Amino acid sequence: MAKSSKKKPKYNQNSAIRSALRRTFSRSPIVREVLMSGRREVPKYCKDGTRAKKDSVQYKCNVCNKWVGSTKCEVDHIKPVIDNEIGFQTWEIFIARLFCNILNLQIICSDCHDKKTTAEREIAKVRRKREKDQEAQFNDSSNDPSLQATLALGRRHRRSSQLLRR
Ligand SMILES: [Zn+2]
Repeated sequence: MAKSSKKKPKYNQNSAIRSALRRTFSRSPIVREVLMSGRREVPKYCKDGTRAKKDSVQYKCNVCNKWVGSTKCEVDHIKPVIDNEIGFQTWEIFIARLFCNILNLQIICSDCHDKKTTAEREIAKVRRKREKDQEAQFNDSSNDPSLQATLALGRRHRRSSQLLRR
């Protein structure tokens, strides 16, 4: 059999659990409620000018106020599920922030979502660099056992959030 050039991403358990939880959330009634709140149907016409049997459904982006088709929008957490300033904390916090109050949810178009994601990644990048620098500093200057314990905790935390980010 020919070797596929497409690389299969390495299985990551935390990432798989996170995706499963997000999928479950996306099917919850609250997501439907958000979508229904910004939904409209507009008449669609065939090439010959007659009206199509089905109208087209559009959703209003809460950021740019444009109306887009269902494939070009999603329900977004205004305050993200994982706080980029902190990183992953616990599954309890993850679930609580995922299944949040409806006021924290909005319809967002793909363009606005891409921009938001890029900005969030930037914040997370700065935080990871800061954590790395702090760790290096601690390693240089301390043999204090309590500090070493704090460091170990930080390392463990970072390792688990790194696993989750993939
Ligand atoms: Zn938008």
